[in-house]
Amino acid sequence: MSTSTETLLTSTAAKTVKAWAAQSAASSLAPFSIQRRDPLPGDVVIDILYCGVCHSDLHQVRNEWHNSIYPVVPGHEIVGRVVRTGRDVKRFKEGDLAAVGCMVDSCRVCASCLRGLEQYCEKFPTFTYNGSDKHLGGPTFGGYAESIVVDEAFTLKIGANVNLAATAPLLCAGITTWSPLRHWKAGPGQKVGVVGLGGLGHMGVKFARAFGAHVVLFTTSPGKTEDALRLGAHEVVISRKAHQMRKHASSFDFILDAVSASHDINAYLSLLKLDGTLTLVGAPEAPVPVAAFNLLLPRRRFAGSAIGGIAETQEMLDFCAERGIVSDIETIGIQQINEAYDRLLKGDVKYRFVIDMASLKH
Ligand code: NAP
Ligand code: ZN
Ligand code: ZN
Repeated sequence: MSTSTETLLTSTAAKTVKAWAAQSAASSLAPFSIQRRDPLPGDVVIDILYCGVCHSDLHQVRNEWHNSIYPVVPGHEIVGRVVRTGRDVKRFKEGDLAAVGCMVDSCRVCASCLRGLEQYCEKFPTFTYNGSDKHLGGPTFGGYAESIVVDEAFTLKIGANVNLAATAPLLCAGITTWSPLRHWKAGPGQKVGVVGLGGLGHMGVKFARAFGAHVVLFTTSPGKTEDALRLGAHEVVISRKAHQMRKHASSFDFILDAVSASHDINAYLSLLKLDGTLTLVGAPEAPVPVAAFNLLLPRRRFAGSAIGGIAETQEMLDFCAERGIVSDIETIGIQQINEAYDRLLKGDVKYRFVIDMASLKH
């Protein structure tokens, strides 16, 4: 342990709380105790009520991005109740509802941070888990836990009238699809594709429809067709049927790819029209091969996007509360988490698992 970490550990008082963690890439999640710092003047202490289960949790628990720091306590779709605040906190008081997404801090002064793009902080944001804890040292620990302590600048507001469990996935699946759809201006007159009907994909369909685009959902699961139409898609394409894909050649303004595993990206690039954009939000382990001519003719773009900034996340949450938009969820106890991961790998979730954190006390 470095000297600076030791200094931090001795100077920052902490409390032990219950959590679930993976101790290595090969181990299942199991009960574990973690430290949460005592609130600093700008901190909010949140008792976690619900936490969504993102495919990124699974990627990182199994070290598929090759950067996991163990033990990993996943969870970045957090909704809870404020139980304590530091003396300088202005926007929250004890008893308020609050939410935390994928980041708990950033440098706050670089050009990206000043533009409200903390997710692209030039010094790298502090991710909610598997980041470096600036206060206690070691890795940050996420929302599969009793409570979390977060600076109020990275804490989101949620209204009292929303479905709390179904709102939790908005903190990652919601903002990750909202941000690129807004950035590339999905709206009336545009043909927008969403690839993969999982946690992200189903929010992408809901948002693209809410923004007024013509929405086409691509799936490998024919059994999801009716759901896709109910969620807002105008058309559904079974991506393994070449004749269904061919019908859409060179016709899309924008395609959002939210697939968690390796798949043929060229099949989707060829569906873009002149100056159309395909944006990856899915983050499979392996590099993605692109055939040059699929980009050159007719002048197509291949892009990526990561989560969204704090102000943008608040804007998305407010929009959802106003329009009654939430995630379609299956609620589980923390004891079912390993089974939920197995089902996630099979694309068998409608459409986001959310952990009821009361189960942590059982
Ligand atoms: P998810 O709920 O597991 O959904 C993924 C979907 O991809 C599945 O439901 C399935 O849809 C499709 N799929 C799975 N395996 C496939 C395969 N072999 N070939 C084709 N399609 C396949 O995952 P998620 O939580 O939405 O996350 C999706 C991806 O986004 C993950 O890689 C995650 O790490 C990443 N992510 C990125 C960001 C970011 O900031 N960019 C944020 C969050 C998550 P169908 O059954 O409809 O085919
Ligand atoms: Zn996520
Ligand atoms: Zn910054």
